[in-house]
Amino acid sequence: MYKTKTKELVYNIIKESENPISALEILKLLKSKNKDLHKTTIYRTLDKLLDMELINKVSSISGVVFYESLDEHHIHVECITCNTVECVNDQEIEKKLYEIESLIKLRGFKVEQEDFNFQGVCKSCN
Ligand SMILES: [Zn+2]
Ligand SMILES: [Zn+2]
Repeated sequence: MYKTKTKELVYNIIKESENPISALEILKLLKSKNKDLHKTTIYRTLDKLLDMELINKVSSISGVVFYESLDEHHIHVECITCNTVECVNDQEIEKKLYEIESLIKLRGFKVEQEDFNFQGVCKSCN
């Protein structure tokens, strides 16, 4: 029962977050809701959610791993100054990404993770 609740809590935070969120940010948010969970518990929960294919991992050049709820194909822009990652959703991008994936599949390659990241400086850091 307790485990399920933690999973739901973490999943809802990720789902409600506008942009991909890091484990530390999830911890902070849980703390503000008076749920003081151990780091290990968070990472274990995140692994479970990844296994269940409910969330996606987004890596960044800063080394921070972000999480987001599984969504349509899209790309990410990463700010090298404030280390935030934002999603860029667009129908044309989505279509193109499906095409790219199909081409890769046609070559007999099984895609397990895809990660399109652009690095640069965000609006607020510019
Ligand atoms: Zn920035
Ligand atoms: Zn995203």
